Amino acid sequence: MADTTQIPFHRPTISNLEREYLLESLQSGRISGDGPFTKRCTAWLQAELQVANVVLTHSCTAALEMAALLCDLGPGDEVIMPSYTFVSTANAVALRGATPVFIEIRADTLNVDESKIEAAITPKTKAISVVHYAGVAAEMDTILAIAKRHGLRVIEDAAQGLMATYKGRALGTLGDFGALSFHETKNVVSGEGGALISRDTEPAARAEIIREKGTNRSQFFRGQVDKYTWVDLGSSYLPSDILAALLLAQLERSKEITLSRMAIWNFYQAEFAALDSKDIRRPTIPKECGHNAHIYQLITRSLDERTKLIEFLKSRGIQAPFHYVPLHTSPGGRRFGRTHGDLKQTVDISERLVRLPLFSNLDSKEIVTEAVLSFFAKR
Ligand SMILES: *Cc1c(COP(=O)(O)O)cnc(C)c1O
Repeated sequence: MADTTQIPFHRPTISNLEREYLLESLQSGRISGDGPFTKRCTAWLQAELQVANVVLTHSCTAALEMAALLCDLGPGDEVIMPSYTFVSTANAVALRGATPVFIEIRADTLNVDESKIEAAITPKTKAISVVHYAGVAAEMDTILAIAKRHGLRVIEDAAQGLMATYKGRALGTLGDFGALSFHETKNVVSGEGGALISRDTEPAARAEIIREKGTNRSQFFRGQVDKYTWVDLGSSYLPSDILAALLLAQLERSKEITLSRMAIWNFYQAEFAALDSKDIRRPTIPKECGHNAHIYQLITRSLDERTKLIEFLKSRGIQAPFHYVPLHTSPGGRRFGRTHGDLKQTVDISERLVRLPLFSNLDSKEIVTEAVLSFFAKR
């Protein structure tokens, strides 16, 4: 079938800087992991996010798997997380033989409902995994206090959170571990890519070993040991330096990318205020949160209304996808996870949420807006 989409949901922005760095990387002949561009990306993230311990990975999924290893998760352990998230948040835990425990989300930010965390804690609980949906931070002060009280680790799935803040601090730097994504669909991209942030230096040293196949190769290259060998569990989690070259250009352009997304987000937010009276919900940004315009979502009144809206937009060449199937209702979630509570709100919201096209050189925001408003005008 021919693709009739004229306005896609997402399109990455690639400039001459990306081409220049890619060519430089290819010509250098130094294209495996931890090369010069990887070092520059790492330094950029350290400076920009104000954090000492960052390693690039080939995906956020890899960074989450590393965090699970660094938390020493194993069979019998439990990790509390929202059901409304991408599969990798849970898979990283299940891969270690541990159990994801799915809990409810908040109706406003669609992040984990922090008031439901304590009731889900058992003697087996080892960590809380939070997701900052749409780059809007979860209630980190409350969550960190709960974790401290119960001796739990906090993993931030900050896949959507680059350039977003909570009380002025970068997402991914607040918990024990933070995982970023540079997947094609995120704000800043290298096709596939990610990073792991570790708050403390001891796990950070181990992270370096885990991503180098469990060897102390990184210490060897710094001249800290005279040969390198197998010292811990590990895998290959490094991105090629070619991807780091692409990523560096994107990181250097990240402020410009975020600003232009923000202009579109703000336009939608102002225009769709007209839908408040019809009970169509726009995003909520708590005052502690500096978001990054990663997603613009609307929550319709029913599944049926959403289905019709998506079809209507499609007929006008506009791609508007829904989002996660709640993990607790998925075959994998039922097999590997446990559910705490009925999660009615998660299911309800997942059936009514729709995301509108949002990318930095989207020049048809007026067309999208007009289409959405005209759909609701009749209802
Ligand atoms: C995109 C995303 C991931 C996965 O990121 P990859 O880099 O593709 O592995 C994980 N969690 C959330 C919440 C995401 O949005």
